[in-house]
Amino acid sequence: MNESQDIEPIMLGDSICPLCGSSINIYLHMYKTPLDESIAILTAKCEKCGFKSSSILTIRTSVTHNCIKLKIEKPEDLNTIIYIGENAEIEIPSMNIYVSSSQLNIGSIITADAILLYIIDSLRGLCTSNLTDNRCKELIDMENQISLGKIRDKVEVILKSSEGISILKSYRDGNYEQC
Ligand SMILES: [Zn+2]
Repeated sequence: MNESQDIEPIMLGDSICPLCGSSINIYLHMYKTPLDESIAILTAKCEKCGFKSSSILTIRTSVTHNCIKLKIEKPEDLNTIIYIGENAEIEIPSMNIYVSSSQLNIGSIITADAILLYIIDSLRGLCTSNLTDNRCKELIDMENQISLGKIRDKVEVILKSSEGISILKSYRDGNYEQC
């Protein structure tokens, strides 16, 4: 485990500058406070016109849940930012997928599309030798949809961790619920 207080910013993805319309990158910075609270700062900066924006999110243990059902139904749901505790279980029941976050080697703060892409990646080996497998077809299909930023097939992802699961930022009301 890395003991340092501040972690390198993570690039979460891109967005459109509200002022000039150019593409801007969104970064996430994480800090741990002495009270063992984590603070996440989301920043966006436009290189073209200088537009800057940031929002601060506090992750307290009190707002975490042990089980969250994430409903990916609209493109903006892919951008949901999630905190996941250690050894979280990640399930996609409709596709019979059950993995653990340690298996996927993902960090504790991640976007919904990244979770899906990590799962797809972890099953790629299985799928290259099994192209006729229905699940593989669905996964490849899902990967295409994500790369296009579109959601044609709704998918439900269940996240469970005794260490806590927390939605840091959601772009649509009702895109997750406790389970
Ligand atoms: Zn701009």
